[in-house]
Amino acid sequence: MREESRKGYADMRLRNIAGSREVIADCPYVVPEEEQERCPGTWREIFGNDNPVRIEIGMGKGRFIHTMAGEHRDFNYVGIEKYSSVLLRAIQKMQKEELPNLKFLRMDAEDVDRVFGRGEVDRIYLNFSDPWPKDRHAKRRLPSRQFLARYDRILREGGRLEFKTDNRALFDFAVEELSPAGWKAEEITYDLHGDERLMEGNVMTEYEEKFSSKGSPIYKYIIYR
Ligand code: SAM
Repeated sequence: MREESRKGYADMRLRNIAGSREVIADCPYVVPEEEQERCPGTWREIFGNDNPVRIEIGMGKGRFIHTMAGEHRDFNYVGIEKYSSVLLRAIQKMQKEELPNLKFLRMDAEDVDRVFGRGEVDRIYLNFSDPWPKDRHAKRRLPSRQFLARYDRILREGGRLEFKTDNRALFDFAVEELSPAGWKAEEITYDLHGDERLMEGNVMTEYEEKFSSKGSPIYKYIIYR
């Protein structure tokens, strides 16, 4: 991975923002941590409607999911982020423009199948996931077979998972994981921004804008099982 790219991935969360945990604890858009274990099977009640639930894992500052929720009011969205200091940025976007169909979870994605029930999720988005370049950390990568097994439990039959990244090594790894994990690719592109059809409706993430503006190609797949 390029040095500047690696630095970019790390520095987003190094800035710890004082008081972010307290803001999150008081925030109506965040499902409180102590209530997360009661969530499976209750997302209809949480949103107060039957609309399909779509989730972004590792949402960062939340531009993608906030824009998606604003553009698609007939879907519910849940943004998952591990770090309070980063989640705070997504909360600030909601404070500027509140959306009833968007909620946040501060949690490690390792537990994603403990907050959603079997088949309760309509679509999963992974955007610019951390690359974890060392081989011994492969199972921490969000498109790894270990994570695909978790997604398999929560994604509805026929549901899709979409993954975008600027990192070729991570993308090649993700593609290689599909067959052993029992998933198939519906779409694969090595130049998303050069593909008019796949760009239709594309919502840029913070990282996507940063890397594509520097000329990096963006890789994307859409998968199912
Ligand atoms: N998706 C955003 C974008 O494209 O601009 C942010 C990308 S950033 C490189 C990756 C984000 O995923 C970080 O905010 C990081 O804290 C979060 N993340 C990484 N591993 C995670 C995990 N296991 N569970 C939840 N969030 C995670």
